[in-house]
Amino acid sequence: MKKHIIPHSYHLQKADRTKLNGHNAFLIWFTGLSGSGKSTIANLVEKALFEKGIKTYSLDGDNIRGGINKDLSFAPEDRTENIRRIAEVANLMIDAGLVVLAAFVSPYKKDRQNIRTIVKDVNFVEVYINTSIEECERRDVKGLYKKARAGEIKNMTGISAPYEVPQNPDIIIKTEHESIDVSVAKIIDLIIPKLELNNE
Ligand code: ADP
Repeated sequence: MKKHIIPHSYHLQKADRTKLNGHNAFLIWFTGLSGSGKSTIANLVEKALFEKGIKTYSLDGDNIRGGINKDLSFAPEDRTENIRRIAEVANLMIDAGLVVLAAFVSPYKKDRQNIRTIVKDVNFVEVYINTSIEECERRDVKGLYKKARAGEIKNMTGISAPYEVPQNPDIIIKTEHESIDVSVAKIIDLIIPKLELNNE
C-alpha cells in the first residue's frame, strides 16, 4: 500500500455480501490454447450456475481487451500485465460476492501463479482445457491459426509462442474425448461444494 493511502474501514465485508447471496464467491479460471473451448465451456458453466441462482460474471478477451486492457499487445510483458489486471478485476468481483468465470489463454505458468497470489489460493479454481494444437488449428474458430501460419500474426500461442501446461490444475477437460455437456457437468460437480458458505 502506498504512503498516504490509508485504507477506509468499510461497514460491509465480503462475508456480508456472500451471506446475502447465499453462496461463496471465487474465480473459475479457464486456461488453454486459442480455440480449445474455453469460452464455449465457460459460458455454459455460467448459464448452469445462473440457473441455480448463483451470482456470476464472465471476463474474456471481448470485455477486457476492448476496454481496460486496450493498451496492451500480445508481447510477453504485455501478456503478463494483461493477466495481472484481469486478476485484480476478478479480485474486486470476488469481494463483491460474485462467482467470476475468466477465459484467457494465459500461457505462462508464472502469470497463473500470480493470479493465485492476487485472489488467494482458496478463491482460485483452475480449469485446464486440454485440446491439442492440431485440433485447435483444425477448428480455427477465429481464423487466427491460418493468419499465424501466413506470418500475419506474431506471438501466436502454440505456433510462435509457448504454452506452459498447468502442473496441478483443479480439473483437466479433454474436449477431443468428451462432449461439451459432459465437460460442463464435470466442472459443475467440482464447483457445487465450493459454493457452500461453510466451506469458505
Ligand atoms: P477458446 O475460448 O478456447 O478460444 P472457443 O470456445 O471460442 O475457444 O472455441 C472452441 C470451438 O471448439 C467452438 O467452436 C466449439 O463449438 C468447438 N468444440 C468442439 N468440441 C468441443 C468440446 N468438446 N468442448 C468445447 N468446445 C468444443
